[in-house]
Amino acid sequence: MILCMMAGFASGWFYDVMSLRLVAALEDIGVTELIVGRRRHAFLMDESALTEILQLRGNNVVCYHFGSMTEGTTTPGMWSDVDTLTSDEFVNIIFDWPEWEGGKYNLLMVKHATCSPQHYRLQATQSGLPLALAVPYDEYCVRDTDGRIYISNQELGHILQQDSAESNLPYIHSGPSHSSSESFDSVLAYRCRKLPTECNSWFTRPRPGNWPTPEMLQTARELGCFLVPDGHCDSEFSSLEWRVSPSLIERHLMFSMTSIHIQCYVTIKLLKKDIINPYLNGEGKLTSFHCKTALFFAREQLQPDMWTVDRLFDCVIYCLKLIRDWTIEGHFPHYIMDEVNLFDGKLNSEQRNKLRSILDIIIDTHLAPLAFVEADDLGVRLLHNVYTVAIWDMTPRKAVCQKITGFLSVYCNTYRLLFLGSLVLSDASANHTPDVLCMYLHSLITRRQTFQQLHRHHSEQTICRYDAVNKDCIRKYLYQHLASTAASICLQHGMQIGNRIWSWYSAAIDTDVASTRLKLASMLYCKGELMMAVDVLEDVERRYDNTVQAICGCLTKSPFKIQPRESFVELLYEEDTDVLSSNKVAHCVRFLRQEAFCAPPILHYEMVREVEGDFRHRYPEVFTWLEWAVVDSRPFLHYLKYLTFRSLGLRHRQVQAVHSLLLSAMDIQNLFHSETAMNLIGHCFEMEGIPDLALFAFQTSRDLMPRANAANLHIRRLTGVL
Ligand SMILES: [Zn+2]
Repeated sequence: MILCMMAGFASGWFYDVMSLRLVAALEDIGVTELIVGRRRHAFLMDESALTEILQLRGNNVVCYHFGSMTEGTTTPGMWSDVDTLTSDEFVNIIFDWPEWEGGKYNLLMVKHATCSPQHYRLQATQSGLPLALAVPYDEYCVRDTDGRIYISNQELGHILQQDSAESNLPYIHSGPSHSSSESFDSVLAYRCRKLPTECNSWFTRPRPGNWPTPEMLQTARELGCFLVPDGHCDSEFSSLEWRVSPSLIERHLMFSMTSIHIQCYVTIKLLKKDIINPYLNGEGKLTSFHCKTALFFAREQLQPDMWTVDRLFDCVIYCLKLIRDWTIEGHFPHYIMDEVNLFDGKLNSEQRNKLRSILDIIIDTHLAPLAFVEADDLGVRLLHNVYTVAIWDMTPRKAVCQKITGFLSVYCNTYRLLFLGSLVLSDASANHTPDVLCMYLHSLITRRQTFQQLHRHHSEQTICRYDAVNKDCIRKYLYQHLASTAASICLQHGMQIGNRIWSWYSAAIDTDVASTRLKLASMLYCKGELMMAVDVLEDVERRYDNTVQAICGCLTKSPFKIQPRESFVELLYEEDTDVLSSNKVAHCVRFLRQEAFCAPPILHYEMVREVEGDFRHRYPEVFTWLEWAVVDSRPFLHYLKYLTFRSLGLRHRQVQAVHSLLLSAMDIQNLFHSETAMNLIGHCFEMEGIPDLALFAFQTSRDLMPRANAANLHIRRLTGVL
């Protein structure tokens, strides 16, 4: 019916009305200014955190998240992945010898006769001298017939492949991107401070839409481009070619888009996903980058007053017509670089004809196929808005927006904690004595200033804005482990805990709602300061209300699959709290082996949980934390209360604590280390003198996680059976 209805009108009021209804449907699925802004904020903060942490480890790199997650141009139904580009800042890309820099690995861009417009070769140079390399030094230096030695684009991929193999991770490879998961794409690249001549005409061509503005063009010049290890699909020498990627400029342009531009782009992407590519039936495909390029041209060509909510239909059709015309010409222009054809390697002539026919159908029926877009129920929502009656049980707009906000918070907090654990502490916790670990952590805290400046010097403004927040967060986390390791040394040797250690606990106290406070309480319990421990535990309990979200950085659950607490997402959404705010999340509590004397003895078993090499059967990628004691904060809070009240002889409160521990272990939704929670329950039953129930708890724990679980040790301990 809607097909007939739409086909019966050419434009005019029908387009106005349908545009407004499409805008409403898109806002229903979170394509609003608020949510787009939150997505950008979350992922820019995340890339800044990743950069900070990698630089802290001594890697001279800057990380960037590109693509729809950072642009905010996605919806829950698109299942977008996270694209990360890591730029090696030790490499200096030069166009000519005067740009050569000492102390860097210089590579000279060469436009070889065989290179396509978007590709260059990189000529190797001598170490410490502005001269071409004369003798290849490894298999990735290839001497060509012209006598020059070029750098192969294969090495960066091999490095990532090797990393995956060493970590026992899957390896997924597509073009220049490599990853160990379907949800992530990772590219290693070199930053080039200048733009190649192929970009020159972009700066000077006429622009009826007065966009990009002269200021934006000036910024674009300063952003430069990347060289990614990806040769042209038809080239004989593709392994020697590097593709010019102006991704930072494209991101800068996307950040200047307003809601209506984003809504236009998202509409085209949804059509691409559910209508166009299924029609192409796997034979070639239209990509998000094609859609984005069409949006760039449309924004540049259309008068600014065209971009209004009642003209969204016109704008979408304008973009689709651009793509259709390019299919006729057989040339899909790159928005910034001359002569590049984005159909190359994506769609051949036959596939372009097929693409043109589906675009004709969509355009001629006045976007009628939108009614059949299943992602996010967009089609149904549009019909619902047309007929203004409820015809489907759809998630309301507010609930969708709350869900997205909750996801962003859980995702970013999870990965920040994962990076901190696995990138900062993994090597040190495995190799250092407690004394050396303290010195290492202290050196990281003080050394950060240098890296901060390095980062600031090389990165764009958008990243720098988030540095201070991440710096503070990382510093607190390092202080937490420093305080606890130093206190553990003192407790081991019967020494007093000095003022310096107390000040470190104080500096770390706000890592999150609970983890540092619980480690402090645990240390106080181990030290015998029971009343002080009670004070801290009661403080944690007061703060840990039902709006607090548990966060685990050990990848026990994918953050894409976690359902945050309703009260947490309501609070984030209503109060416009920063999605990365740490005062509403509770990290899992991690004790390194070097902190053992600050942890209750039962957790020592967690640190030696490996039996007969069973680590490799469980989460190979996060192997490190299996050598630590890691426990969810809420069950640990109640376990510590149980221990402390037991020592104080407060039987009634002790019983209350064990009840609360049982309840927290049943809250599966908010539990990440459920087997460890069961081990704590088992130990409480043991202390209560009920060995049968203790054994039952340990067996339940083992059922939850058969391998690399301390429950196996407890069962042996109780039954004496090896
Ligand atoms: Zn965890």
